[in-house]
Amino acid sequence: MNQKVFNTLTSCADPESPETLSVTEARERILKCISPIEATERLAIRDGLGRVLGEDIVSPMDVPGHTNSAMDGFALSAADLPEDYVNLKVIGTIYAGDSFQGVCRSGECVRIMTGAPMPAGTDTVIMQEQTMAVESDHIRIGNGHRAGQNVRQAGEDIAKGSVVLEAGRRLLPADLGILASLGFGEINVRQRPKVAFFSTGDELRSVGEPLLPGELYDSNRYTLYGMLIRAGVEILDLGVIKDDPDALRQAFTQAASVSDVVLSSGGVSVGEADYTKSILQSLGKMQFWKIAMKPGRPLTFGHLHDALFFGLPGNPVAVMVTFYQFVLPALHVLSTGKRYEPFTLRARSENIIRKRSGRFEFVRGTMQQTPDGDYSVVSLGRQGSGILTSMSHGNCFILLEASCDGVEPGEYVTIQPFISLV
Ligand code: AMP
Ligand code: MG
Repeated sequence: MNQKVFNTLTSCADPESPETLSVTEARERILKCISPIEATERLAIRDGLGRVLGEDIVSPMDVPGHTNSAMDGFALSAADLPEDYVNLKVIGTIYAGDSFQGVCRSGECVRIMTGAPMPAGTDTVIMQEQTMAVESDHIRIGNGHRAGQNVRQAGEDIAKGSVVLEAGRRLLPADLGILASLGFGEINVRQRPKVAFFSTGDELRSVGEPLLPGELYDSNRYTLYGMLIRAGVEILDLGVIKDDPDALRQAFTQAASVSDVVLSSGGVSVGEADYTKSILQSLGKMQFWKIAMKPGRPLTFGHLHDALFFGLPGNPVAVMVTFYQFVLPALHVLSTGKRYEPFTLRARSENIIRKRSGRFEFVRGTMQQTPDGDYSVVSLGRQGSGILTSMSHGNCFILLEASCDGVEPGEYVTIQPFISLV
């Protein structure tokens, strides 16, 4: 890897100390270990959509480049605006893309099309619909117009020399338009993090293989694929690895050699076949945390050679929750150098939600906007960490703080819409 993706461990928490952390504390410890990718590559602007800008974009020009008309109509000097009405002589016509040679004097106006530069001597445009032809070469305008109306000033959108897009920004469709409007054909974007991922478990089969009794299809690699693609990273799918220490060691090493971040799922609990922790410990630096959350309690995090390592739980919902709450914020910092605040809303709970205090719960719910503009939310009936349909049938997490000991109908809760989780 040509980029280093983490600082020295001094800023990270004590490795190997088994402790129960809050969600916030665990996220904080992870984010402290991340140094953003700095390396850039040059791309055509269209290919930059969704990519992270690697440089400040300084405008080489004013946009608009010239003061121009925002309407089809007649350009005149505001000094000629009447108290009652006035007839003005039309001395010419100017189209977008032209430049008017003459000068417009008092008592005169110029027929002008949207986008055409304002002729010398004019500063105001009267919409065509608000004028009346009085002779072949005169128009009449009434009162009630404002000096400077319907005119777009040079540089009113973007001033020459200003920073119009900042390094670290993920490029949106509007940004591509802005870059084009400034004449940029190519831009420097940051290289995307490379994320290698694999599933672990003797019971797992890949799609396309027959299932024997007790076996199941590996779904985690598919949800991870979807979440990673949406996160805008480069992915390397390393398949299913058996619960076999040698095979796992080999997968860990291979994954770290080709990526900035390694994700595994499964094998982080305390079962007989849960090798993730011990292998990470022997090959890299391990931090294992019990996080006071549900679902997704155990999380292994650490360094594997030059890569960051996340050992996610095996249960399908726990994989998604831990990805969204820990991996995604980490990928964001790695990609952009910036932290983001999760997007949340307040919503009125329609039903009772049972909970004991002590753990942060990510309850899956269905939210909707009510006719009065408020939001309401219903928690889904089945909340097991293996019930993947809850992530599909629901459309938000209901975020219940560790201290919360249940929600009554009508109570307001904080929700995190899935749509906001890139
Ligand atoms: P583990 O942490 O390895 O004990 O896995 C916990 C549970 O998640 C078990 O029921 C596994 O069968 C299930 N599981 C683990 N990995 C996957 C996967 N890739 N796809 C679907 N289910 C999984
Ligand atoms: Mg397992």
